[in-house]
Amino acid sequence: MRRIELVEVGPRDGLQNESLIVSTADKVALVGRALAAGVRRIEVASFVNPRRVPQMADAETVIAALPDRDDAIYVGLVLNVRGAKRALLTKVDELGAVCVASDSFAMRNQGQTSAESVQSARDIIALAKAAGRSAQVTIGAAFGCPFEGFVSPDHVVAMAVELAKSGPREIALADTIGVAVPAEVTALVTRVRAAVPDMPIRCHFHDTRNTGLANVWAAVEAGATTIDASLGGLGGCPFAPGAAGNVSTEDVQYLLERSGIATGVDLDMLIDANRWFTTVMGKPLPSMVARAGAFPSANQSEQ
Ligand code: ZN
Repeated sequence: MRRIELVEVGPRDGLQNESLIVSTADKVALVGRALAAGVRRIEVASFVNPRRVPQMADAETVIAALPDRDDAIYVGLVLNVRGAKRALLTKVDELGAVCVASDSFAMRNQGQTSAESVQSARDIIALAKAAGRSAQVTIGAAFGCPFEGFVSPDHVVAMAVELAKSGPREIALADTIGVAVPAEVTALVTRVRAAVPDMPIRCHFHDTRNTGLANVWAAVEAGATTIDASLGGLGGCPFAPGAAGNVSTEDVQYLLERSGIATGVDLDMLIDANRWFTTVMGKPLPSMVARAGAFPSANQSEQ
C-alpha cells in the first residue's frame, strides 16, 4: 500500500494569522492531539520576530513543554540565521527553512531578495546539520506571488537545484496564497523531481480558491511523498494579502485513505481534535470532513 506522510502545520501556519493569541497550553495540547491521532511530524512553532508575528512569541516555551518522543519529529520554522540559532537552543528535531520564489514577496516575508533567501536557507541547512539536526526547506510562493502574480517555473526549478546542494532531507513547494491549479502542480512537481531526482518532495497548499484538495491529489499522483495540512483548515500568512487556510488534515486524511493511500493518521481522532479545537478558537473551522463526519459505518441504522 502506498503511503503519504502528513505534516501537521496547525500549531504554526494554522495559528500565525489568527487574531486570537492561542495560549501556550492549548498549543501544546494541539500538538498532543496530533500525536495521539498518529501524526509523526509536526511544525510546532516558528522562530520569527515576535513584534511581527506575536502569535509565535512563545515558541521556546511551547517546545520546552512538548513531550519527549523518539518517534516524533518536531519542526521549527526559521526565516533567517538568527531564527535558526534560536531554534537550535531548543529541542526541535528539525529546522524548516523558507525561501521565496519572488523578490517582492521575499522582501515582505523576510526582508530578502529571492536569491538572498536561497542563500539564507542554505546557511540554515548547514547550521542545522552541523548541530546534528535534520533540515528541510520550503520554496514559498512557488505557484504565484501576491504582488507579482506569475512566478516562473524555471526559476523554482533552479532554486530547487541550488537548495539541493546543501543536502536538505526534502524540498517543499508551497502555494502560499492558494492560486495553484492541479495542472500546474503536476507540471511543477514533475519538473522538480526530474531536476533533483533523489530529493523527496513535500507540498504545501492553501485552499484560498477551492483548489486545495485537488492540488493535493495532483501532487500525490506526481510523486510528492509528504503533504502539509492543518487541523481544521486554519492558516494563512500575515504577509500575503488574501491568503486563506491550509488544506485541512481531516480532509486530506479522508481523501487519501479512501483512495487506498495510507497516512498512519486516525480520522476519528482528528474529528475529535477538531471539536476541541473549535472551542479553543471559538468559531467553526473550515474543514468539511469534520463537519460531515467520516464515511458512514454499516452498523449505523437509520433512525
Ligand atoms: Zn502556508
